[in-house]
Amino acid sequence: MQKTTRKMAQHKQIALVAHDNCKPDLLRWVVEHKDKLQGHNLFATGTTGHMLSKETGLEITSLISGPMGGDQQLGALISEGKIDLLIFFWDPLNAVPHDPDVKALLRIASVWNIPVATNRASANFLIESPMLDKEVDIEIPDYNAYLSART
Ligand code: PGA
Repeated sequence: MQKTTRKMAQHKQIALVAHDNCKPDLLRWVVEHKDKLQGHNLFATGTTGHMLSKETGLEITSLISGPMGGDQQLGALISEGKIDLLIFFWDPLNAVPHDPDVKALLRIASVWNIPVATNRASANFLIESPMLDKEVDIEIPDYNAYLSART
């Protein structure tokens, strides 16, 4: 598919998700980076978002809980170009009931070329990136060109 660009604003739309065993680790990471994170718009799946906003006081738009459809909601937002970064502490050591949704979320994040961190080290690299607080162009599939080539 042809490519086009999407402009990410200086003020980013950041999604936060953690599987149950990884929630304490994500909370610790969010507390460590609270100052940076509060300069952006935060989204999360239901349980993660409620826990993080209760524990940190951060303003977070909480979607439905992951296993109940929250991962798919996030995927839809990514497809619409409404999420710029995904911080997803998924659990590599335990099975989850919504594994297909988890895969779909990671897949759609790759389709739309958004930066994804799946653990603390990669999340640290993203949060320290100079691009976080700058307007950035990212390459994305040119869906309009795809449509017009088909009609
Ligand atoms: P949760 O969902 O935040 O509602 O626990 C996380 C997930 O997507 O598994």
